[in-house]
Amino acid sequence: MKLYISLIISLSVSVFCRSQDTKVSVLTPGYEQRIRDFIDTSEVIDTHEHLLSPEILERTTFLDFSLLLEQNSYDGLIASGMSESMIRKLYFEPTTVSEKWKIIEPYWNKSFNTASNRILLLAIKDLYGINELNGSTVESLSAKIKKAYSGEWFNHVLKDLCRIDYLIEDGDNVGAKYDYFRYAKRFSPWLSVNTKFRIDSLAVMQVEPIYTLEDYVKSMRIVFEDALEKGMVVVKVNAAYKRTLSFEKVTTENARKVFRTLINGNEDLVISAKDAKPLQDYMMFQLLELAKQHKIPVAFHTGIQAGGVNIIGNSDPTLLTNLFYEYPDVNFVLFHGSYPFGGELTTLVRNFQNVYIDMNWTYSISPTYARRYLNEWLEAVPASKIMAFGGDQRCVENTYGNLLIAKQVISDVLIEKVKTGYLSESEAIKIARMILYDNAAKFYNLKQVE
Ligand SMILES: [Zn+2]
Repeated sequence: MKLYISLIISLSVSVFCRSQDTKVSVLTPGYEQRIRDFIDTSEVIDTHEHLLSPEILERTTFLDFSLLLEQNSYDGLIASGMSESMIRKLYFEPTTVSEKWKIIEPYWNKSFNTASNRILLLAIKDLYGINELNGSTVESLSAKIKKAYSGEWFNHVLKDLCRIDYLIEDGDNVGAKYDYFRYAKRFSPWLSVNTKFRIDSLAVMQVEPIYTLEDYVKSMRIVFEDALEKGMVVVKVNAAYKRTLSFEKVTTENARKVFRTLINGNEDLVISAKDAKPLQDYMMFQLLELAKQHKIPVAFHTGIQAGGVNIIGNSDPTLLTNLFYEYPDVNFVLFHGSYPFGGELTTLVRNFQNVYIDMNWTYSISPTYARRYLNEWLEAVPASKIMAFGGDQRCVENTYGNLLIAKQVISDVLIEKVKTGYLSESEAIKIARMILYDNAAKFYNLKQVE
């Protein structure tokens, strides 16, 4: 017996020593370049875009250099003083390229430093061979853009240059033509309802009357099930643009009171945000029931809102805590790294099994924020809960520029972690694969991965 015990002890000591030996990570020279090369040549899943397809762009007035300023860069133009009427003139009225530049130039000169503008400059350098955006380059850049879009440019940039295997588009406007596209669907006609007109338009659209609260819930179910058939892989909630992310549990009777006020009102009835809230909150819970039933994840816009004037307090991700409790079977993903609520996001992802991080858009808000929080998240939360790339762009050029920055940030963070001995080289490579591809493939149920 004694011999048996000492044999066990000596065996465990030798196993323990061996496992200790294998954990000593020796840095093999050249690891920085190997990590960068792996990331640079990786296929990726792009979890969030608002891309305008060539077919849509053909019909717009901005198939020129101003396309590149869409959405992200013009936040900087607005913040530096550009007026709404100028934006309208740029994007919705027939305006020549040189007239557009005259409008933009003073504001570009104030905001050229922003990350979204750096992304734009990286993109035009690589893709169109143009090094600066100014009065002498906008005409030739615009001509090159027009020419590029007449060919296979859209797919070439996304598939060949970015190596995007799947792309999740916000809305199904781009159409079924692109077989690697999947969709995020919004349910705003139900979640932000505050007019009778909204309900009546739904009834007209669906050719089915909406008289009762139950009819109204049914109308959302019909659209939800239709979206599933069209390739919806995630529900997207952008309520934080218009209201608080605090959704309270409301009784059916209280929701019905608001519904009745709307349905019995005049055609032009609009009720206040406060009065509409019980019905909107009720509909959120109904939507989560559908998500639960169909096993579809739910994405929330959290943090900074695009497009100027808004209330940041409305988008604090901790306001969603009761939903995470109430729906443990629904997987939630919080978009945009919750900028600037990165620390709050850490705690939510640690506290709830069903809460995940999506870093889409963060690189064009601030690569330093993305770097700082990716660094922290790799210490504080399971790597399996981080999705590290989504462009959140309107055009493929900016998706390309965004991906360059994302890959640089991810490489820098992982190299640093290997340098300090926090991760081994093989662990860093494994994490790169997880956060750029595998996690999104699993979370959005795009394909089976090991
Ligand atoms: Zn977006």
